[in-house]
Amino acid sequence: MMKKRKFLLFSFITILFFFFKIKFFNSLFANFKKRNHTAVLTHDIVLNHLISIDHPEKSERIIELIKLLEKKKLGILIREINLETKEKNWVKTIHSNYHIKSLMRKYPIGEKSSLIAVKGCLQGIDEIMKNRHKNIFCAVRPPGHHALNTGKHEGFCFYNHVAISAKYIQNKYKLNKVLIIDWDYHHGNSTELFFYNDPSVLFFSTHDADAYPRTGSPDRIGSGKGKGYNVNIHLPCGTTDKKIISTYENKLVKKANIFKPDFILISAGFDSRKDDPLGCFDVSDKGFKTLTTIALQIAEKHCNGRILSILEGGYNVEGNAKATVTHIETLNNFYKNI
Ligand SMILES: [Zn+2]
Repeated sequence: MMKKRKFLLFSFITILFFFFKIKFFNSLFANFKKRNHTAVLTHDIVLNHLISIDHPEKSERIIELIKLLEKKKLGILIREINLETKEKNWVKTIHSNYHIKSLMRKYPIGEKSSLIAVKGCLQGIDEIMKNRHKNIFCAVRPPGHHALNTGKHEGFCFYNHVAISAKYIQNKYKLNKVLIIDWDYHHGNSTELFFYNDPSVLFFSTHDADAYPRTGSPDRIGSGKGKGYNVNIHLPCGTTDKKIISTYENKLVKKANIFKPDFILISAGFDSRKDDPLGCFDVSDKGFKTLTTIALQIAEKHCNGRILSILEGGYNVEGNAKATVTHIETLNNFYKNI
């Protein structure tokens, strides 16, 4: 009788132990999944590129950003870009052989750095499509949204990373509609050019049309079948959080709800932040938090949260790091609250 009681008690405790053990590991796993929805892709090679001493597009932009991520205990999000990723044929979906060969000859280090950025973008898209992350930020340089096919770099840009990414999403994953949001202070003239007749890519850009490259007129709305799919919004010097946020809330959300994107790309330039040496907007880090949240809400509504965000400009080294980290934090924390 005593033996039987002991056996039952032992069995009961064992079952209880395994039950709590499973619960504990499940909640640990859930917490882990909950905590990290985003990843930051980067590589040391992008630090090697130097246009000239004292040039604002410098490696310190990335170094400071990584330092701040680590300081804020977000270093856990950083992953190294896989150098095995095959990107050459994808670059050719946007850039001519003449351009590629000319860059390789004239600026081998800058060209390599831009290729690493492309590798990062393709890897990021793969990881999002495999559901490994909800969204990804590419901490890369040089920027890309001014890159044309002139055989030289334009506005610090060599290859258009965001445009190549759009082609990759459409051709490899057969997702048709890509929304590109560009909040860099400068107009993404190259992105506009490559999709100007294309209704499958909605390009939404806010910028100062009086600044380099002096394009981005609101009259430029796309042509042919692409008419209505190019949205240029000129914002003047001194643009505040309130002004830029209301533009995104009123114009972007409306356009996106009609377009219903399958994937969102962000040309994330932070030279639209206050105190940038090349810009004159007055947007704060809190402003970028709201812009990021708007993009996340659109992504959640239409495309299962899929966002790849790529660093463009941002030349106040400290300011760029602060705004970018706010952007990454928002990308990562969004799903904790819903
Ligand atoms: Zn810029």
